[in-house]
Amino acid sequence: MEIESKLALLADQMRLEPAEEVKVRPSAGSSVAPCGFSPTALHDAVQAGALETKKNSLGLYDAAAPGGKRITLLKTLLTSACERDCCYCPFRAKRNYRRATFKPEEMAQAFHQMFTGGIAQGLFLSSGVAGGGVRTQDRLIATAEILRRKFNYTGYLHLKIMPGAERDQVWRAMQLADRISINLEAPNAERLTALAPHKNFAAELLRPLQWVEEIRQSQPGHLGWNGRWPSTVTQFVVGAVGESDVEILATSAYLFKTLRLARTYYSAFSPVSETPLESVAAENPWREHRLYQASVLLRDYNFEMEEMQFDPKGALPLDVDPKVAWARAHLTEKPIEVNRADKHELLRIPGIGPKGAEQILAARRRGRLREPRDLDKLGIVAVRAAPFILLDGRRPPQQLALW
Ligand code: SF4
Repeated sequence: MEIESKLALLADQMRLEPAEEVKVRPSAGSSVAPCGFSPTALHDAVQAGALETKKNSLGLYDAAAPGGKRITLLKTLLTSACERDCCYCPFRAKRNYRRATFKPEEMAQAFHQMFTGGIAQGLFLSSGVAGGGVRTQDRLIATAEILRRKFNYTGYLHLKIMPGAERDQVWRAMQLADRISINLEAPNAERLTALAPHKNFAAELLRPLQWVEEIRQSQPGHLGWNGRWPSTVTQFVVGAVGESDVEILATSAYLFKTLRLARTYYSAFSPVSETPLESVAAENPWREHRLYQASVLLRDYNFEMEEMQFDPKGALPLDVDPKVAWARAHLTEKPIEVNRADKHELLRIPGIGPKGAEQILAARRRGRLREPRDLDKLGIVAVRAAPFILLDGRRPPQQLALW
């Protein structure tokens, strides 16, 4: 099979896996035809700024690498063959689906061509499980080693850790990749049983994430790729098996605080034909969005789980940003004086993030903040903050804000 055709087959379902891409993913119903473009023709098309859909059809996405640098990321698999039977997954065993497989050398060669041709600047490499987690991980590591050693590739590499991989393999992957990920898929063992009956939550998924942090804690960073250890991320499937936002965010909080994950991805469930969950309704994308917002509060804003505004069923409200929900409950009657608040308090105010809080603290050393325009000048969206603050002892005028 042609390399482009294989990539197109793999890309068809990889769109379900969130990675570092920054653009909206193709809609769940989009179908992808084999590309049929040569690397040269594709390069010309990409350079011309055209054919975004064609790029996506090969698994190429505009992405933000850690640190914010924008790159075109090839998001693909070594193989879409899989011996596991996760209930939501298009690659599950026995599903009637046209599979594609790359050998490590072939994948490394194909990506290297795309890299040197200016088509892709980064690689996110995953795989179906074929021959066990250990053997599959060996092939992922072999691909990374060929890229790094034979092709001297120094660009961005995000490697997936397979369920069942061994600690030494995790260690080796950490010496080759800028980022590694292990998808928990569910927030706990009970939910995982419904989602992926033959995956072991503690031993196969959580344990490797713990190994990563143990290695980071016990070994010097210069042993990692590029002189530092890779960041770690995970993904949850949201809305397939009745898990609540409380469950997902409680596990996310543990991952941020204890295992120092850089990010948790939330993927709103979308049913796939010929899977046990094909008749389960697709999850509302707003739930995914609210979970992302709440996870940022837990990770970057010092919010605790107890402070989140859940309904009695453990769900975040869909119609309001979780930070605004907290502020309405706590700050409407007791607004925060911006000229006296410490950083922790400033971060509680909608419209003020870590950078904005620093800007306010610096600006206060130069004089008092008296008007909404004083906040606007600092890059803060004063209209969002206005209902919850005092400026020099006075409530600022409020306008209708859209959030
Ligand atoms: S192990 Fe991965 S690729 Fe295989 S069925 Fe499960 S989620 Fe899909």
